[in-house]
Amino acid sequence: MNYGLRYKTYLLKHEQKQNRGAIGSRDSERLKCYRAEWSFESQVDNPVFKDIKDAERYAKKIYKSKTWQKLWERSVNLDVSRIMAASPPIVAKQRSSGRGTMGHTNGFSVTLDTKVGLNKYTLLHELTHCLGHMHHGRSFRKTLLDMVGAFMGAEEKKLLKAEFKKRKLACGEARKPMDYDTWLASVKRMEKIRG
Ligand SMILES: [Zn+2]
Repeated sequence: MNYGLRYKTYLLKHEQKQNRGAIGSRDSERLKCYRAEWSFESQVDNPVFKDIKDAERYAKKIYKSKTWQKLWERSVNLDVSRIMAASPPIVAKQRSSGRGTMGHTNGFSVTLDTKVGLNKYTLLHELTHCLGHMHHGRSFRKTLLDMVGAFMGAEEKKLLKAEFKKRKLACGEARKPMDYDTWLASVKRMEKIRG
């Protein structure tokens, strides 16, 4: 295989390692992420919406905020192809039984269970997916922390971060891959060792 192609493979693998939940790999950190969130939610005040309209009103406030616009731009810069809707509508789950998920999204609209999903944190979680992170990996958690910091508070952000840390879930900036020259030098070094 030529070096150009091998470098491409390296970049792909690096990205997957940095963001385990990303497209093309399993959303393997989902359950751990949920556990961190359950523990977080039991410690904070999580305001409840009256109804779907109320939730949508709040979502619209978020869409107008500097934070949302900043995070939106960051997603666009990272990877345009993963961008979903800029201001996804909020809809009620058809059969809101309180069983199953509190909310879900396909990136274009957010569906909330009216029995258990009408609260600020569930909305922030689903909206974070809509910023292009259709998984629960590192980039999702990093963005979620920014959302929580802006719309719940600094103290809440700190608590959620601590819950992630407790479960060894990375939520900082992804490590940059080696540039081509550095990578090539290291490959050549390895080839020399192996003979
Ligand atoms: Zn989710």
